[in-house]
Amino acid sequence: LVKITGLSKKFRDNVVLDSIDLDVKKGDVIAVIGPSGTGKSTLLRCIDMLEKPNKGLIEFGDFRFDVTSRNKKDIVALRQRVGMVFQTFNLFKQKTVLENVMEGLIVVKKVPKAEAEAKALQYLGKVGMLDRQQYYPRQLSGGQQQRVAIARALAMEPELLLLDEPTSALDPELVGEVLDTILKAAEAGNTMILVSHEMSFVRKVASRVIFLENGHILEDGTPRQVFENPQHSRTKEFLHKFY
Ligand code: ATP
Ligand code: MG
Repeated sequence: LVKITGLSKKFRDNVVLDSIDLDVKKGDVIAVIGPSGTGKSTLLRCIDMLEKPNKGLIEFGDFRFDVTSRNKKDIVALRQRVGMVFQTFNLFKQKTVLENVMEGLIVVKKVPKAEAEAKALQYLGKVGMLDRQQYYPRQLSGGQQQRVAIARALAMEPELLLLDEPTSALDPELVGEVLDTILKAAEAGNTMILVSHEMSFVRKVASRVIFLENGHILEDGTPRQVFENPQHSRTKEFLHKFY
């Protein structure tokens, strides 16, 4: 579905991603784990061109995107295929829940208003937020806001959904409802790359786990392979902190 080749990013002389190759199959749920500052967020942000990589190729089938391209049309075409859920929800504060989910459909996808509303309601239903459709973000809990953000991303029907620590800004008692929402989206067949420190959840949801350190993929395997039989001592050290 998605083939990433030679993706590199440095900030001044700090090499954060060093020629990353990643092949994502349809329906894959890839969990990216690794120490703080290792480039997990940068990887996701580069795939969505929120960060400008120095080198690399992103291919969705016949759609080939050279990440050094600054062609607006190509960047829009890339972003049409990729959805993003952030740590801090990033909802539009002046818009209701329903309007938040409709916005991208209307502005980016040019879907007629009535159709956008129907689709938004459908996805709000999937995350259990239909009854809050007229609320504003500030009237919602963090967990509810994140579920709306997930509905907003899913409503765009992206080929690839990126989630960057979607539960790390939440109070512990709100984490479960968001993880359940993500699990449901995974079971529905959405292709995702998820950065998370919730190791038990990663084990449950991921089809594949990647351990990223210093700009390199050190491990790449099933949750079982990576958690039970890591190949590198660095991975073992990292995982020990969680058990
Ligand atoms: P965490 O687990 O703490 O979220 P991370 O793996 O997501 O960490 P990144 O946020 O991708 O790490 O950061 C990787 C490296 O890139 C860090 O050394 C960071 O200082 C650097 N970096 C990230 N964004 C920028 C930026 N805009 N300008 C300069 N350096 C940056
Ligand atoms: Mg990060």
